[in-house]
Amino acid sequence: MIPFNRPYMTGKELWNISQAHHNGQLSGDGPFTKKCHQWFQRELGCHRALLTHSCTAALEMAAILADVKPGDEIIMPSYTFVSTANAFVLRGGVPVFIDIREDTLNLDETKIEAAITNRTVAIVPVHYAGVGCEMDTIMEIARRYNLLVVEDAAQGLMALYRGRHLGTIGHLGTLSFHETKNITSGEGGALLINDERFVARAEIIREKGTNRSRFFRGEVDKYTWVNIGSSFLPGELIAAFLAAQLEEAAEITRTRLDIWDRYHVALADMEASGKVRRPVIPGDCTHNAHLYHLRLPDSHQRARFIAAMENEGIHTVFHYIPLHSSPAGVKYCRVNGVMTVTDAVSDCLVRLPLWIDMTEEQVNHVVAAIGAYFQAISSERREPMSGRLSASGRFVGSCDG
Ligand SMILES: *Cc1c(COP(=O)(O)O)cnc(C)c1O
Repeated sequence: MIPFNRPYMTGKELWNISQAHHNGQLSGDGPFTKKCHQWFQRELGCHRALLTHSCTAALEMAAILADVKPGDEIIMPSYTFVSTANAFVLRGGVPVFIDIREDTLNLDETKIEAAITNRTVAIVPVHYAGVGCEMDTIMEIARRYNLLVVEDAAQGLMALYRGRHLGTIGHLGTLSFHETKNITSGEGGALLINDERFVARAEIIREKGTNRSRFFRGEVDKYTWVNIGSSFLPGELIAAFLAAQLEEAAEITRTRLDIWDRYHVALADMEASGKVRRPVIPGDCTHNAHLYHLRLPDSHQRARFIAAMENEGIHTVFHYIPLHSSPAGVKYCRVNGVMTVTDAVSDCLVRLPLWIDMTEEQVNHVVAAIGAYFQAISSERREPMSGRLSASGRFVGSCDG
């Protein structure tokens, strides 16, 4: 079986963990955490980075920093992971969902202004598949309406928009190192602070509402409870693991891009003949090959596709159930405008296996299996008397809804 994902280990993680053990500090903010912070600040160009125990935690910190009050509205896509919305709902905020773009599947920036009310406080662009949202437009709208921008860059480490790293463009950005992401520590995340006004308070929020960070820098002579906060920092073992992965971030990204490119070239003809749609990468974006997805004509075709791949020993998976149609989404959130693209994409998108140690033969096998599947479909269409041409035989080349 070719799995959908297999976490990659650089081989240096255990050495780092043994060093952390040797150092004798296992709680957070030790040498490995500092090393990770410096890596982000140097390699990504953010003003300040703070490791968290997940991207979810970083989003929760962002919601506290944004001073979200009950009833405040936050504009975001519905086609995303639950934490994008849940972090703000925990503060009493109301996520306002707008539709996504037909090409990148990112927040449709042309629909933001229509969703702004006098309760709007923030915009949360999610960089789906590590492909940048139209950040220049989003930042310009945010400036004009005095809104905060929190980039959910959970999938976006090492990807760029107009030469800038995803997560470093908005006021705040969040990263994930969950096992399913390109760079991983099992569970893990980071808050990137690009607007220095937020640094002092972010340190307090992350350290249980205390000024412990200032105390350790010798800036105050005792530490005490100064504001609301929680425990958002990971222990040193996680940071030690992550530090090993960060050192190889460039190579990891390059290897993933090679696999992604092989899929993209091999599936070009199938897109040209209207069988599938491949991902779209705008000229302004350098992506990080976080995932390779295809869009099939509808949910029925997708189910058939996934089953056919399963038969070939290939594990493919669909992605988000839109938050606006989830039970908590209905209860806590609101929709602005139509959700045509979101609903269609949720029905017809499938993700192919993509992980570092995939061999060329495995990639070729996936491509060949996809080819054979569509061959079988089209011979069904040419034999209408076979009785196999049911509604399922109908095949059109788009999933515009
Ligand atoms: C993975 C993911 C998250 C959550 O990350 P965790 O580190 O697991 O909390 C949030 N948003 C998006 C878009 C994600 O892909």
